[in-house]
Amino acid sequence: MSLAIGVDVGGTKVAAGVVDEQGVVIAKSRRPTPSASPSDVEQTIADLVADLRAGHDVTAVGIGAAGFIDAERSTVLFAPNLAWRDEPLRDEVAKLIGLPVFVENDANAAAWGEYRFGAGRGFDHLVCVTVGTGIGGGIVLDGRLYRGRFGIGAEFGHMQVVPNGRRCGCGQRGCWEQYCSGRALLHEAREIADVQKEWGKRLLELGDGRPEGIEALEVTTAAQEGDPAALACFEAVGSSLGQGLADLASTLDPAVFVIGGGVADTGELLLAPARRIYAERLTGTTHRPHAEIRLAALGNEAGMVGAADLARLG
Ligand SMILES: [Zn+2]
Repeated sequence: MSLAIGVDVGGTKVAAGVVDEQGVVIAKSRRPTPSASPSDVEQTIADLVADLRAGHDVTAVGIGAAGFIDAERSTVLFAPNLAWRDEPLRDEVAKLIGLPVFVENDANAAAWGEYRFGAGRGFDHLVCVTVGTGIGGGIVLDGRLYRGRFGIGAEFGHMQVVPNGRRCGCGQRGCWEQYCSGRALLHEAREIADVQKEWGKRLLELGDGRPEGIEALEVTTAAQEGDPAALACFEAVGSSLGQGLADLASTLDPAVFVIGGGVADTGELLLAPARRIYAERLTGTTHRPHAEIRLAALGNEAGMVGAADLARLG
């Protein structure tokens, strides 16, 4: 049995797991992300790997990190949440642990995990969209991860969907993730609570009387209770998802869309409007096969499992 370690480097925590050939996580460990300093994060990764290796014979380490990873899968070109620029992550970690290391964009790693062991199993053409704080994207074409020439493809979240729209952390305006994400859900809820106080009174109540007091989880709670204003927030975000998937289908023609991320944990609240708008907006909709839209199956382990598997495959 060949084992590999998958590491998920997030803004708040670094999670690592020993993953077997069937994509099963057999041991796990995590630590807080130390600081913005790359060398501290590299040491944390090395410490986690050392802990896990003590009990398991592993052959390689895969690291999934949010950011632009170069085509050689060695250098983090740009990671907004970690303030990294041109960081040679692969070589620095390899020096510390003495095992082969592979670095992958976190959403690409998650897409690979879902393709191999999750909701995308058996589909050689898959597009994964992770709807969390922002949007992450991953593409598998003909059974291979598609990275693009420079390694930084599938950044769907920054397609401009509204000319001159809401500002985005990337420096542009009107990006898809400003309309289809946890942040977008909150934006809708706070706007309703602010300007349509009667309709949005349940939302306002949950925010202790202040629009800015409303949290994403509370919008979900209100929607699950059937509150029409909260349902309208999901309708807006889900519709944006459906339109985006229709656009991606025009370009990539996948067999399945796998939808993951924190907002997708709400299931049909997000997917029902997405499926409806997708079917409506798809070009030539009545004259073509439709890709399935499925919920991701591996939850927040998708990136860890995918990174480990990519490392094992080399
Ligand atoms: Zn953007």
